[in-house]
Amino acid sequence: MEYIKSRVRDIIDFPTKGIVFKDLTTVFKDPRALHIIGWDLSQLYRDKGVTKVVGIESRGFIGGSILAFELGAGFVPARKPGKLPADTIRQEYAKEYGTDVIEIHRDAIGPDDIVVLHDDVLATGGTMAAAYKLVKSLNPKKIYINFIIELSALNGRAALPNDAEVSSLIVY
Ligand code: AMP
Repeated sequence: MEYIKSRVRDIIDFPTKGIVFKDLTTVFKDPRALHIIGWDLSQLYRDKGVTKVVGIESRGFIGGSILAFELGAGFVPARKPGKLPADTIRQEYAKEYGTDVIEIHRDAIGPDDIVVLHDDVLATGGTMAAAYKLVKSLNPKKIYINFIIELSALNGRAALPNDAEVSSLIVY
């Protein structure tokens, strides 16, 4: 994990002043770090019978795809509004300024699925809480929540449902 940490790049004041942005492009471009990420993420869910990994647009698509591949599960994108071509369901959520919307295909998840929801970084938790509600409404057997990085000072876990099992590879 120290190796992964050494590859994470902090960008000060991005995208706005006061934010320290955890840039994972420097992790993903490093073959050894990418391999470790795939392995370590999948070890969390090896014996859980996971059938689908839902990745949140857009940085969650990278780790989510690797995790799905490692587990032999399918990959499902949760996307910004208007991007998915077929019948979708949507969830609105509050952002710092105004609201945002996340969408998923209505037929992407079913009652037999065991799902891991994945994003790269847990900050305030608003995005993941919305994605959880969306997936929950499709009634899968079980939902796990997963991040590569958790920013504990922002207490994002408090925004996530109590009954969800939340795992992060690296906690700052
Ligand atoms: P959240 O506040 O948990 O809803 O985060 C919203 C989205 O922005 C997540 O998908 C994160 O990937 C991203 N994000 C928020 N804060 C940071 C940060 N400091 N560094 C990197 N990504 C961030």
